[in-house]
Amino acid sequence: MTLPMTPASALPPIPAREDDRLAALQRYELLDTPAEPAFDQITRLAAKLLKVPVALISLVDRDRQWFKSRIGLPVQETPRDHAFCAHALESDSLLVVTDARQDERFAGNPLVTGDPNIRFYAGAPLRTADGLALGTICVIDDQPRAALTPEEEEALRDLSAMTMAHIEARRAVGYLHPVTALSNRFRFLADVDALPADATMAEPADFRETAVVIDTAASQQYAELTRVLGQVCADAFEVDCARRIAASLPERTRLYHVSPARFTCILAGHDAADGELASTLHRISTAIRSPFQYQGVPIATSSGIGFVHRSDSPPGGVELLRAATSAAHQSLEEQKPWCAYDEEQDRAAHRAFLLLRSLTEAMGAQDQLHIAYQPKVDLRTDRCIGAEALLRWTHPALGPISPAEFVPLAERTALVRPLTEWVIAAVLGQVSHWRRRGIALPVSINISMLDLGTGDFADRVAAMLDRHGVRADWIDFEVTESALMTDRAEVDRQLHRLRNLGIAVEIDDFGTGQSALSYLKDIPATAVKIDQRFIRSIAAERSDQIMVRSTIELAHDLGYLVVAEGVETAEAYDWLRLHGCDFGQGYLISRPLAPAAFEDWLAAGAFRPAAMSA
Ligand code: C2E
Ligand code: MG
Ligand code: MG
Repeated sequence: MTLPMTPASALPPIPAREDDRLAALQRYELLDTPAEPAFDQITRLAAKLLKVPVALISLVDRDRQWFKSRIGLPVQETPRDHAFCAHALESDSLLVVTDARQDERFAGNPLVTGDPNIRFYAGAPLRTADGLALGTICVIDDQPRAALTPEEEEALRDLSAMTMAHIEARRAVGYLHPVTALSNRFRFLADVDALPADATMAEPADFRETAVVIDTAASQQYAELTRVLGQVCADAFEVDCARRIAASLPERTRLYHVSPARFTCILAGHDAADGELASTLHRISTAIRSPFQYQGVPIATSSGIGFVHRSDSPPGGVELLRAATSAAHQSLEEQKPWCAYDEEQDRAAHRAFLLLRSLTEAMGAQDQLHIAYQPKVDLRTDRCIGAEALLRWTHPALGPISPAEFVPLAERTALVRPLTEWVIAAVLGQVSHWRRRGIALPVSINISMLDLGTGDFADRVAAMLDRHGVRADWIDFEVTESALMTDRAEVDRQLHRLRNLGIAVEIDDFGTGQSALSYLKDIPATAVKIDQRFIRSIAAERSDQIMVRSTIELAHDLGYLVVAEGVETAEAYDWLRLHGCDFGQGYLISRPLAPAAFEDWLAAGAFRPAAMSA
């Protein structure tokens, strides 16, 4: 069935601020919502007062009119082109059509010629405070009628005002925070989205808007407050914060309570100009710094304040709030009174979050994580004496991710433990496979400082060795010096336990931490790995030569073997051999290799640097 074409003269006019009107309609969140008794009471009253069979609350959407309430009409919506109500939007007070068949705008309208056979129509627009008509409340009869009496007109206008008041009240309730009675996050988002489109770059700074987020407690502190002193205390804390912040804001600035212990506001015009902004931020920061008193107990929390100019943030209220929140987070972390949004930092935080989220999945997937093996050679014989296991991650969307990026991230979370376990299991599997095939080389595994800080690390390693049938001297661990600097007692205990199991321990990246060389004597290690930054230009840099020479000498005197990592040139290789360094590892010898490639490399015979064959 095709609907009859509506002649152009009969099409409803498009209101002047149509885009604003449609945006407002969205903000009220009425479209396609279930029926509500309060609206149905109004339409029932309208039908009764005006003695008509049909009464509607109609919202005029882009292409349709949709009925929030309807008495006497079976359909939920009709096309906008047919909607009488769409004609009523522009009328100052009422649109009354006494007989549609006699009105050239409506005579051919399918709602007139067919069902529901409209003859009489009277509608009053539902207008917001800023004059945008969302739709109408209207009454309809299938008989022509006389014009409305003044009393009837008044009744219809009153019903329209009642409907609008209810629409506003309905919105206000959903827009208030129950604890502080401040506007909530939804209100913030609606208000931001109602702001005029972003200021152009040429706009003077005085006209820009700036969103400020105030975190009055770190999230664990707020959780702790709730847990230890109860929700009543946490609520009182928020009320107190709201009061203090509100008192620090420029006049007529709306404060929003967007989530637990988090507040936000928008500064505009003069208030957002640099000087004013700084003094406002200073006032807020001072106001929330003094401890909150609860039943005589002072409770101190850490706070953070972040701001972002709307023109510097991705568009939309959600993004604006996120950007300012990220800045507040930075302020809290760095213990600065406030921070501006930093896109670069935000992007890094975003990526870090994404990586951490995908890392768990990666550990479960078959094809994302794998181990590369980089040979270590004896500098005197040029023979391979072992390999270092280096973790590789190919992210399904982001491609290869360096362990130098994701391992430190994992170290900041509980993920480091399962990650290390994944690596150890993978290496033990490979080592036992190689041993069965007659490849008898120890493999070094990198572990994190946090692994050694957990009390059962050595026990878990022992259990894994058992499970894989791998002897303790078939592997060793590389630990970075910084790991040895923190949590000394536990780290020492675990290192001794590993040594007692028969596992060798190398100090990785030696020379990059803050420890003195004398520190070496306390560490139960077997070898020292001099960091690649000293090795790369060793043949030319005198200061590197001095550092490396004395390290080799001291380490040997204390009974350690010495490994040089990052050997990239034959000159470096020669220099190191000449100065008594035991082992070398680096691109000159081989890049880290997949297991099969490593086997091929081994099969090709002992390594000899090109420069030395001459
Ligand atoms: P690292 O343990 O000091 O490993 C040596 C790094 O230097 C490796 O980088 C290796 O590929 C690279 N390298 C080797 N030879 C040369 C060379 O001649 N020149 C240059 N420029 N680089 C060379 P990679 O694989 O990117 O690993 C970076 C760091 O990530 C490692 O430093 C280690 O701290 C960490 N890491 C790698 N795998 C693991 C792991 O399984 N667990 C833990 N906890 N950390 C790991
Ligand atoms: Mg290493
Ligand atoms: Mg290293």
